[in-house]
Amino acid sequence: MYSECPGGRLKRGADGVEAAFDLYRDAATALTTFFCRFTSRSCADCLGLYRIALPEDPIASHELVEGIFPGCCQEGVADDFRIPDSKGRSLPKPLVERISEGRVGLGSKEGSDYSVRDVRTGRIHKGRGCRHMTPGGCGLGPLKSPICLHYLCDPVRQNLAAIVPGASWPMEEDFLGFGAFLHSVARLADNGGPEFMAARLALETLLTEIRGRDRELALKTEQDEKIKTCMEK
Ligand code: SF4
Ligand code: SF4
Repeated sequence: MYSECPGGRLKRGADGVEAAFDLYRDAATALTTFFCRFTSRSCADCLGLYRIALPEDPIASHELVEGIFPGCCQEGVADDFRIPDSKGRSLPKPLVERISEGRVGLGSKEGSDYSVRDVRTGRIHKGRGCRHMTPGGCGLGPLKSPICLHYLCDPVRQNLAAIVPGASWPMEEDFLGFGAFLHSVARLADNGGPEFMAARLALETLLTEIRGRDRELALKTEQDEKIKTCMEK
């Protein structure tokens, strides 16, 4: 286990990539669990959410004609390994290859087609969802791409901000320290051992931020549930 391994001991090359992969998976597991708790209900009815929360957005004037509307989970998104807010820099190729290797056997060759109609113009728009989308949500678990782990649309951010007023949500600069973590993991994949402790620390920072935000949201959601139950009596 790399977690017990002092920095410096890892060699350059493959060991660094493997350690970077482990840390990436740990971060992705924590982020996936966190967002799933608070956003999956919204994402399950993406078009409905836009109609209510952002009626002026072009997406809000669309209705489903066939298939499943994938929202932001469009074809190709799962293969975008750019680091958020880094002017287009991607995770290093060996790390991308390692993540892709872990995905073998997951998802299908192609995503499924959908079409939507713009109710204002009657125009039909066709598209294809991500190949990892399943009826139960994303089937990629912790091997999602950085953008899958970080992107939230405006209505979802509005919802979250309404639960915890004053808290800011993704798309702001380096949300929860995820960008700094990814840069650190990229350096570990490139240079191996000497970067290990820095990448571990960046992961700890990210996990601490997630725990803090998770507590805030869970507490507030619990309080709201109690108020709701109370009022229903
Ligand atoms: S994050 Fe927003 S756009 Fe993406 S699926 Fe969820 S509701 Fe839809
Ligand atoms: S991998 Fe999962 S989260 Fe990413 S686009 Fe595909 S279905 Fe959405």
